Amino acid sequence: MGVATLPDLAQAAQDIMTAGRLLDAKNMAPATSGNYSMRLRDGHIAMTVSGRHKGRLQANDIMTLNAKGVPLENKTPSAEAALHTQIYALFPEANAILHVHSVASVVLTRALRGDLVLAGYEMLKIFPGITTHETHVTIPVFDNAQDMTVLSAQVAQKITKALPVYLIRDHGFYAWAPDMPQAGYLCEALEYMLQCELELLKIAGGTPK
Ligand SMILES: [Zn+2]
Repeated sequence: MGVATLPDLAQAAQDIMTAGRLLDAKNMAPATSGNYSMRLRDGHIAMTVSGRHKGRLQANDIMTLNAKGVPLENKTPSAEAALHTQIYALFPEANAILHVHSVASVVLTRALRGDLVLAGYEMLKIFPGITTHETHVTIPVFDNAQDMTVLSAQVAQKITKALPVYLIRDHGFYAWAPDMPQAGYLCEALEYMLQCELELLKIAGGTPK
């Protein structure tokens, strides 16, 4: 998706509402958790308003911020808005970001230490440039923090263009893509692999790697 095809606010709101219904149907949107955003044609960011159920979003639950995360209307964005603007600033090809509090991401980051290695999955082909299951990716895991300055500084040290996802321990994950449908696929695929890892841990008797 090039700049010419970036959405206006009304289109972005539709895409974000559709993503919310999808992620809710996949059990990735409990209560008011998560936050979603899109880069707009005018360089601003469309983002979900804080405290809304993502499976039941209305158009007025999506607000605009500038590229620095400053609200352009009298609504409160997610407390994690800075993590979105960081991704847009670092990666020009990122036009849609989804952040979810999924069960598998929380359980796995509680059970395991360090970053998460996913190896040998056919589904790894969801990631850019991967064409075979005969590979592995190391997904960064960051400790949870309420101070977004602290968290974003840690994130900046590890995230790369090659792997558009990261995990936050006890909390959830972030995924970004050139458009919202692809970001949704990325969430579904990552959650699928996290659930596989979780099932493997159960078979192994819950012993961490
Ligand atoms: Zn969160």
